[in-house]
Amino acid sequence: MKKFWLFCFLSSCILTHAQRDNSFPVIDVLHYTFNLQLNDENNNIKGEAIISIKFLQTIPSFDLDMVKKNSSGRGMIVTGVKENNSPVSFLQEVETIHIYSTAKAGDTVLYTISYAGIPADGLIIDKNKYGHRTFFGDNWPNRAHNWLPCIDNPSDKASVDFIVTAPEHYQVVSNGLQVEENNLPNHFKLTHWRETVDLPVKVMVIGAADFAVNRAGDVDGIPVYSWVYPEDKDQGFHDYGMAKDILPFFIKNLGPYAYRKLANVQSKTQFGGMENASAIFYYENSVGDRKLEALLVHEIAHQWFGNSATEAGWQHVWLSEGFATYMTHLYLENKYGADTLQKRLQQDRDSVIAFSKKKFTPVVDSSVTSNFFQLLNANSYKKGGWVLHMLRRKLGNAIFWMGIKNYYAQYAGKNAATDDFRKIMEAASGQDLQSFFQQWLFTAGHPVLKISWKYDKAKKSVFITIEQTQPVVFQFPLQMAIQSASGEMLQTFSVKEKTTAIDIPLATKPLKILPDPNINLLFEGIVGEVK
Ligand SMILES: [Zn+2]
Repeated sequence: MKKFWLFCFLSSCILTHAQRDNSFPVIDVLHYTFNLQLNDENNNIKGEAIISIKFLQTIPSFDLDMVKKNSSGRGMIVTGVKENNSPVSFLQEVETIHIYSTAKAGDTVLYTISYAGIPADGLIIDKNKYGHRTFFGDNWPNRAHNWLPCIDNPSDKASVDFIVTAPEHYQVVSNGLQVEENNLPNHFKLTHWRETVDLPVKVMVIGAADFAVNRAGDVDGIPVYSWVYPEDKDQGFHDYGMAKDILPFFIKNLGPYAYRKLANVQSKTQFGGMENASAIFYYENSVGDRKLEALLVHEIAHQWFGNSATEAGWQHVWLSEGFATYMTHLYLENKYGADTLQKRLQQDRDSVIAFSKKKFTPVVDSSVTSNFFQLLNANSYKKGGWVLHMLRRKLGNAIFWMGIKNYYAQYAGKNAATDDFRKIMEAASGQDLQSFFQQWLFTAGHPVLKISWKYDKAKKSVFITIEQTQPVVFQFPLQMAIQSASGEMLQTFSVKEKTTAIDIPLATKPLKILPDPNINLLFEGIVGEVK
């Protein structure tokens, strides 16, 4: 997802659901079938979810996540729960459905949850910019359980069917492939989409609106569609059609695309873009946005990282956002050249530095246990991206890409934690990356350097001192450009201590000493001559 800071902050006040702790799961959802009825008279939805659950332990009861109707009149009322078609007892709590079960460890059981209500969030029912009524799922981070009973945590992935009954003027888009579209009595229509690949709930979605749909082209047998408001048809088809030119870069460099179509959808998402698996939602005014290319690339990169290879928990969200950020840089570097990469890295570095002065936390931040909107920050996106950049420079292009490919091959369809990624990169490179990961991802801050130099005319050498002033000492290579009358000299130093002193022979006094001229280190610093 690409965040819109303003929107995120405005909505964060109502989005404080506590996290389901799924680190020791007792059940594993294998499949969801969500039957949903939408109408034009009011915002009530009616749902029947058929959920296939495998029991990992023998337990007398378990919880599904679902927001109960509250005093505002929003939320869902569960009217019945069946276990393999027989009614069972349940208790609806504020955020969960507590279900009494007869299942034993190893059993796979079908549960049918019947419910209805006005979604408090998660399914956005609202007029679009042209005044037409629309329904758009917008689940990130854990807002799905406002309209879908589920395990609302990225660690439990499942395949999904959405069977949507809506007034016939709507076109319905969702994950996977459309397997049925059928007219019903009274001007209703049933649309059935099926995704057979396991997804985290955060990227399961429906969109129902009046759409114009275009097949922009096919890439490796994957049809690429543009779904836009009919009023934006011409420009929208043109703008979203760019997706077909982006897909080949990732297929070539990362591995096969995991899904059987890609739809790029104009929507009411509160984010700039939301990477819903094979049905990416973009903000309404994305059509005509001059920065749309980078947004499309970011969301398409998520189809690999976040959707297919999914973070094991929210604290590892950089495996999704940091990857999408850096993959966007790499795509644009490949298309427009190294200057573009450097410019973007510089901008990101400025954001990371500014963010560290507001909130001094590591990228892998286990302290956030509710309101995961807090994780939509410069650490998850830009520092995460920077870590990948420094890893690429440390390992070299060939090993970096091999490691990334291996990581994707190993975790496609599954979940990974930061250590899983480290182990794959260690295997690819033969290097111990423990301290690299520890300092850049599990330690707050970055090198803050005080660099001073003095030229000794008699000895014809320049004496440089690099002092690390941040709380924890980092280890990193630092390239310096030393400009003098005889030209520019590039030298790389291994910085390991709080203070590093270097003596460099130099015929004339430096005109300027510039640290990291090629933008390969996440740091801040000042350089001064000692007179
Ligand atoms: Zn993203």
